[in-house]
Amino acid sequence: MSNRFSKLEKQQTVRSKMTVCPIIKQKVLVSPLTVGDDLHIRTMVATPELYDSELSLMVFNHSKFTDLETQPTYDDFTRNISHTDRKMILWAIYVATYAKIKDAQISCPKCHEQFKQTIDVDKLMTDKTVSVWQEDKVFTEYSIKDEFRLDENTVINFYLKLPTIADHLSLLSGLSSDMMQQNFDRFETILSRTDELLLSVAKAEITDDDGTDTFETIDDLRVMFDRYIPIDAQESISDKYDKTFDKYNPKFTHFCDCPKCKHSFDFNIDIETILFKRFLNT
Ligand SMILES: [Zn+2]
Repeated sequence: MSNRFSKLEKQQTVRSKMTVCPIIKQKVLVSPLTVGDDLHIRTMVATPELYDSELSLMVFNHSKFTDLETQPTYDDFTRNISHTDRKMILWAIYVATYAKIKDAQISCPKCHEQFKQTIDVDKLMTDKTVSVWQEDKVFTEYSIKDEFRLDENTVINFYLKLPTIADHLSLLSGLSSDMMQQNFDRFETILSRTDELLLSVAKAEITDDDGTDTFETIDDLRVMFDRYIPIDAQESISDKYDKTFDKYNPKFTHFCDCPKCKHSFDFNIDIETILFKRFLNT
């Protein structure tokens, strides 16, 4: 690139934000979105599965892994980085690009007063936000077993894992836009609880007197959950998953005082939802 842009390139470096991916334990320097990125993502919002893959591509394009001599390819990036790490990078992108959430709608949990506050996104990161990966294997090789007894002779073993970015993308590519839009309208999140569950199950083994059947593909697992798995098994998986992995999910909280009743509380912020709304312009 010619030197005509050197001043602007320098400015982009100044506004970059350093963060740590807690699961792969690597530092990332994140550069702010440009007008072009913003416009591009806005046109993708209407199609959730495209939106999510474009968002991953954007995250990749704005990340520089400063500990690594050679930067990963997009394929390496999606296969070896957890979806949890993507959340931390999105937070850094938000800080570098927009810095603040203007007029965030907050509701007091005590008196239900609704009020608006401008939130400094950089300050949402505290020492309580993230836990660094502490299991004995890298996350892509780590799973934990949840045993569920269907009857006296039949046992299902679910192997639970932390999903990669690629897992997330392949799950989304199997969902219709309508389904995702419905989920978003109802729960303000693109994935349903079953989808989240599918993301966390690496494998299921069903054993009875005749032997063991193994299910590993996302399509088989979806059929299994939709048609055969009882609700209490699902609850058992969710509990086990939360106990093992919830500590790794970044928690962005804004401390507020209610202007009406003066109650102090932590307001939880989902950066992905805030970004999605920003691109939707609502
Ligand atoms: Zn209040």
